[in-house]
Amino acid sequence: MTALLEIRNVSRTFQAGEETVTALKGIDLTIETGDLVAIVGSSGSGKSTLMNILGCLDQPSGGDYRVAGKSVLGLSPDELAALRREHFGFIFQRYHLLGTLTALENVAMPAIYAGLDPQSRADRARALLERLGLADRMDHRPNQLSGGQQQRVSIARALMNGGEIILADEPTGALDSRSGEVVLEILKELHRAGHTVIIVTHDMQVAANADRIIEIRDGHVLSDRRSAEKGSAPPSSTGKPGGRAGFLDAFRRRLSDAVPMALRSMAAHRVRTFLTMLGIIIGIAAVVSVVGLGEGARRKVLSQINELGASTLSLYPGKGWNDERAAAITTLVARDADALAAQSYVGGVTPFISAITRVRSDRATSNANVNGVGPAFFSVNGMKILKGHGFSADSVSGRRQVALLDDRTAETLFPNGEPALGRTIMIERMPAVVIGIVSRPRSAAGDKTLQVYVPYSSASGRLFGEATSLSGLTVRVADGVDTGFAERAIVSLMTRRHGTKDFFVFNSDQMRKALESTSQTMTLLISSVAVISLVVGGIGVMNIMLVSVTERTREIGLRMAVGARRLDIMLQFLIEAVVICLAGSVVGVGLALGMGLSLGGAESAFPMVISPNSILAACAVAVAIGLTFGFLPARNASRLAPVDALSRE
Ligand code: ADP
Ligand code: MG
Repeated sequence: MTALLEIRNVSRTFQAGEETVTALKGIDLTIETGDLVAIVGSSGSGKSTLMNILGCLDQPSGGDYRVAGKSVLGLSPDELAALRREHFGFIFQRYHLLGTLTALENVAMPAIYAGLDPQSRADRARALLERLGLADRMDHRPNQLSGGQQQRVSIARALMNGGEIILADEPTGALDSRSGEVVLEILKELHRAGHTVIIVTHDMQVAANADRIIEIRDGHVLSDRRSAEKGSAPPSSTGKPGGRAGFLDAFRRRLSDAVPMALRSMAAHRVRTFLTMLGIIIGIAAVVSVVGLGEGARRKVLSQINELGASTLSLYPGKGWNDERAAAITTLVARDADALAAQSYVGGVTPFISAITRVRSDRATSNANVNGVGPAFFSVNGMKILKGHGFSADSVSGRRQVALLDDRTAETLFPNGEPALGRTIMIERMPAVVIGIVSRPRSAAGDKTLQVYVPYSSASGRLFGEATSLSGLTVRVADGVDTGFAERAIVSLMTRRHGTKDFFVFNSDQMRKALESTSQTMTLLISSVAVISLVVGGIGVMNIMLVSVTERTREIGLRMAVGARRLDIMLQFLIEAVVICLAGSVVGVGLALGMGLSLGGAESAFPMVISPNSILAACAVAVAIGLTFGFLPARNASRLAPVDALSRE
């Protein structure tokens, strides 16, 4: 029959700077199932080193060690973790309970890594605590328990995954003698129940409880005595927990275990967590609101263009907006407008003439831009007639002396809320009756010039002279006609009429594109600044996670001792990073939404449009940041060696 634990010629050396310390020198040891063994020796004799090798927390430097006939040499960290989970239960002098967890949660913890479902976990942990006389202490945290109680909690934890072999390193070392006796009594009882128990102690009185005492000095076995035939108990069932789950299930469960764990450790460092989050909050709020502002500006520009009237083309004399000779070109005349209006692809033509002249009422005098326009001008330009009415065809053909004022002009000429409708104003020397008030086109919101509109026939005939050429004309493309086609046709028709192309066409579609690309460029620019702030936030997260790993080295060591795989540790820290980032992004999106609300809706100067998509994208980015910047700290944590991690103060 193979021995349960078999150590052959095992040595262990440590490199302490230049010096090589040999803690174990060629130890041979066999431990059978059901043994109650005490390993004794003075401080520094190598007991803990031996214990760590026995428990697969550490590996020998030389020799061979077999657990249930299986050599541990060359096993991967995860395979060693599996051995610890399946065979060993650890009891430490300093208990190593996790301070943020209750007694029940501390006991249940090893079963997380064994893949037990939460219900069975809680049931088993409760049963174990009851068995150890702690039924009324389940929801206490370690700092609310006495030393003896804490050690009993840690014994329950050692039994959680079965604890076939109990390894207790100075289990009574930190306890008063009464509590120490209780703990020893429990260990003896476990031995009677079939567990193999190995106690490490420097205290001969404690060792006297064992059937077999192995004495160690300077890394050698000095003596190995069995006390008078107590006989080892027959191996019996050590009550391994059942109800293990499939791989996928276990993975999902591990995630759902890790999230509350992450929340708890965040709650334990509230200020720090908040400061870490702040970087993400600011970054996400910046990105979301900048993208929202960009989208809002884009929509605003679009709606302004749409107000100009869909699919309009405007003709102006000259080669472009800045052509100095445009004023000298007088070939664009009213008959051109008539010719265009006759084309099938034209839905309407509005010629216009404009010039700054003096306008006078019996109350006030001011300079205003006087526009000679056609009846369709207001609708083509998306201007609303607020009061009265626009020009009839008759008022154009009859050169009527009528005028429309924009609201600002009405206020200037007729202050103090006097009604303007029906009053007569003087435009230069032409009297005109005000027949309507129009809104200012939104696109001219910033423009303070007063605008007066008269029929273009009256303007050309009575104000500026018959021969005056047009300032321009606006063509509304007939419904269903492509503006590009209409533009080409108009250009060729007008070029034929004038004999040369002495005009240019302004297409509202071009403006749309130009404005859109400008606003996109702006959005891109500001977004990249916001992205930089997100990266800075991510680096903050990484920094804090690295600190957190260092701070929680012992917790990591303990989790590994009870059987956590590297992936488990890695997941735990990654999830913490992701939870921090995700929570930060939720607050950040909230901030951005609040900012959008306070800026006002689409009517405000800075409309912000935050779509559900951009919120989702923000959350996805936050998760990505958490994963990216959490990776390094998480990997560092998962690569710690269990013994080193446990012994770190
Ligand atoms: P015990 O538990 O019997 O008091 P240990 O097994 O802890 O003794 O240590 C045995 C010897 O090995 C001591 O001399 C100690 O200084 C040395 N030692 C233990 N662990 C390390 C380590 N990680 N690095 C260097 N020396 C170590
Ligand atoms: Mg020790």
